[in-house]
Amino acid sequence: MKRININTATPALPQSKVMIIYTGGTFGMAHDANGVLVPFDFNLILEHLPALRNLSLDLTVVSFDQPIDSSNILPSHWQQIAQLIFDNHDSQDGFVVLHGTDTMAFTASALSFMLQGLKKPVVFTGAQLPISEPRSDARENLITSLEIAAAKKNNQAIVPEVCIYFGDELLRGNRSKKVESMHFDAFQSENYPPLAKAGVKIDYNESAILKPKAGLRWLNKLDTSIAILKLFPGITHQTVSAVTGIPGLKAIVMETFGAGNAPTSSSFLNILKEAITKGIIILNISQCPGGMVVQGRYETSKELLQIGVISGSDMTTEAALTKLMVLLAEESHIDLAERITTSVCGEITN
Ligand code: ASP
Repeated sequence: MKRININTATPALPQSKVMIIYTGGTFGMAHDANGVLVPFDFNLILEHLPALRNLSLDLTVVSFDQPIDSSNILPSHWQQIAQLIFDNHDSQDGFVVLHGTDTMAFTASALSFMLQGLKKPVVFTGAQLPISEPRSDARENLITSLEIAAAKKNNQAIVPEVCIYFGDELLRGNRSKKVESMHFDAFQSENYPPLAKAGVKIDYNESAILKPKAGLRWLNKLDTSIAILKLFPGITHQTVSAVTGIPGLKAIVMETFGAGNAPTSSSFLNILKEAITKGIIILNISQCPGGMVVQGRYETSKELLQIGVISGSDMTTEAALTKLMVLLAEESHIDLAERITTSVCGEITN
């Protein structure tokens, strides 16, 4: 990783220390000689964003050696980001992670479970248009994210949690979803209110923000023996059993219809039942971005409850998947079902 220091306050003393972790994505791209978008050298950020000099910040910028399109992000990258934040948690006032929007909600969700008990803000942001474009949203997204990462009240961080700032809203990371690939308001959090709205000033929704817990925990192990099974009308038994039969599989995030409903055919339910008997966890997450799974509300979900499918309530798929990765990697699997359905950091309504 490359590291540079920018003191935007010189000759005055900076008021806050913020670490920017640059992973790649559209944000930092510029057109090459052939007109193709490629990552630019982040050391040149001040040329693209001279307004940074007006902030009173001591910035440390750490860049991935090879900035990536976030479609190539891996759990090993999450481990690198989590380690950087853990190692620098006490010496920095906050963190801004620049990340491609495509998988930002997965990374933000993963980080929220890997770093429990944060006292400092970890603000993910990116852009729909590269910073080299005149109409880019990159400038506003970065400047406001830096302000949020540095914001304190009574000497404590105002937003001590993993969040996503995009298109004038600050959302809880593990409640967010990418919903838009063309317009600037790319993210939505249907089941939880914004943590802040940025207008002329930044209005924090303080009652919605997590209160810091004692002691920062770093859980750096991830188990990826998980599959996502999205149901659709006409899904064949071959497809379902191909997924449940994956060797070494430990859990399935099953994306169901509406309030957690699924076909009632006994052949479909028998495949699930067999998988559960073998010890595979099946977590029911709705395909709807808003609302929640209520197993037993309809006839079409009653049996899921009876065979031991776990209700994921109002968790997003991104949160469910990454929470399972962290929980499955823990040594003890006692009460796993209970821990999956209990809020770790605001990802589920309990
Ligand atoms: N494909 C890009 C990425 O996720 C899109 C973006 O940054 O918005 O890295």
